[in-house]
Amino acid sequence: CNTLEKAHFYLTHNKDSPLKLQNYISNTFISPTSPNHIDSFNPKTGTVYCHIPLSSASDVDHAVLAAETAFKGWRKRTRAERSKYLQKIAALIQENRELFAVWESIDQGKTVERARVEVDRAVSNFSYFSTLISHEESSVRMIDGVALTYEHRSPAGVFALISPWNMPLYLLTWKIAPCLVFGCTAVAKPSEVTSMTAFLLAEVVRQAELPSGVLNIVFGDGATTGSALVKHPKVKGISFTGGTATGIQIRKDTAGDVYKHLSLELGGKNPTLVFDDVDLEKAVATAAMAAFENQGEICLCGSRIYVQSTIFDSFLKMFTSYVSENYKVGGKVGAVVSLQHYQKIRSYLLLAEQEKGKFHLGSIPEEHPKAGYWIEPTVLTEIATDSRIMKEEIFGPVVTIAPFWGEEGAIELANDNPNGLASVLLTKDGARMRRVGERIEAGLVWVNCWLVRELGTPFGGMKNSGVGREGGSYSRDVFTNVRTLHLPS
Ligand code: NAD
Repeated sequence: CNTLEKAHFYLTHNKDSPLKLQNYISNTFISPTSPNHIDSFNPKTGTVYCHIPLSSASDVDHAVLAAETAFKGWRKRTRAERSKYLQKIAALIQENRELFAVWESIDQGKTVERARVEVDRAVSNFSYFSTLISHEESSVRMIDGVALTYEHRSPAGVFALISPWNMPLYLLTWKIAPCLVFGCTAVAKPSEVTSMTAFLLAEVVRQAELPSGVLNIVFGDGATTGSALVKHPKVKGISFTGGTATGIQIRKDTAGDVYKHLSLELGGKNPTLVFDDVDLEKAVATAAMAAFENQGEICLCGSRIYVQSTIFDSFLKMFTSYVSENYKVGGKVGAVVSLQHYQKIRSYLLLAEQEKGKFHLGSIPEEHPKAGYWIEPTVLTEIATDSRIMKEEIFGPVVTIAPFWGEEGAIELANDNPNGLASVLLTKDGARMRRVGERIEAGLVWVNCWLVRELGTPFGGMKNSGVGREGGSYSRDVFTNVRTLHLPS
């Protein structure tokens, strides 16, 4: 039986022995050269359910060479042909939606409802880029009647596509779809913490009969596998999503390879600004969703809420009662991804206690969780502006709430952070939406909404949240080289 059938069988037969993943290179599932593996845990139970190969530099080399060989043919395919493969992949994920969603939930700890949304978004990634390619535009200019110039693009080559653990399938496909449609080939490496849906995706790609070597998937950690991949001389570009420290390491590791395209989507510590002209009920619902969706494990989550002083008390009261009613652990709130991450979140809560912060919801979770990594939504106030809790990304179900006085004060607090990924602005005042929105140092500003996405808009962060933008034609810039041709008129 194929990998999808095996994954289904595993679910229905409740097998005791862990699943064993294999790399996918040149359209073949193969075991890595080293017998070493990484245990993958089910965050809801704390038990090992899967073994991830720890691929070595020679496995990575094998995959890169397969991608390099495939590039010669793939780059020559017509846009329509490449587009058709993407459509097939989209259709196959759609067909297996529930299987993907259930595994994503087991692997990451998120609820199945949340996982379904992300599987649907993965389908959209492929269908969006499959149509975008046929509407590609190229700019043509005439220089004083002397020369005609136009831009010509060609695919850059083999790409390393590296993704984190919080939205595994969605974020990996956000890279794979544009990479392939713009004519590049790839070696993708999902997070070692959540590799399962990338394994299922490999089977989908096999069934879609994507030409051999166009997409290869290797599994493994950052230090061995990821590092070998980004440093490989035949890798012409890297599209990376993950933590800021890793992004910096990748920049260092590739500093000598000036030719490598680099797109880095990194961490956030995003502010939500609540002005006193809002409809309080709506503002509370939006701020709560931005804080606690996917247990706060979305890079775009609003973990620092600033509320205009005039409505601070009423907002806080309504927010805590809304969250305790609507965001229950085991209901809308899943388990956090790993024991290591649980301990990291816990350490910030211990710090909050030490610093005499006030817990309105949530408490310090037990040090040794017995069955799964569950953390209650936590609402903190009275945390100092310069506390590490305010400065660093916790990436869990933890939010701080603090007051601000006036627009300037709000902007200052919002920007008082080394990161600049996303933000939420809640106000009814149309002029303020622009006045404040245009001064927030963040790549994304959501006004009276959160997580609304159109796949053509530029996505990415300012400051320590990364370099480069992805989405629509911005992804084209990542994956292609542009040359300008000058023709005498
Ligand atoms: P991480 O940086 O630890 O790991 C991300 C990926 O990089 C993994 O696949 C890992 O194996 C790999 N990696 C680690 N070290 C490497 C190295 N030296 N060379 C090459 N690859 C290496 O991040 P994480 O803990 O998996 O994910 C959480 C982080 O991701 C958070 O900071 C979050 O904000 C960020 N994130 C950002 C976005 C965005 O779009 N900006 C989206 C989702 C998550």
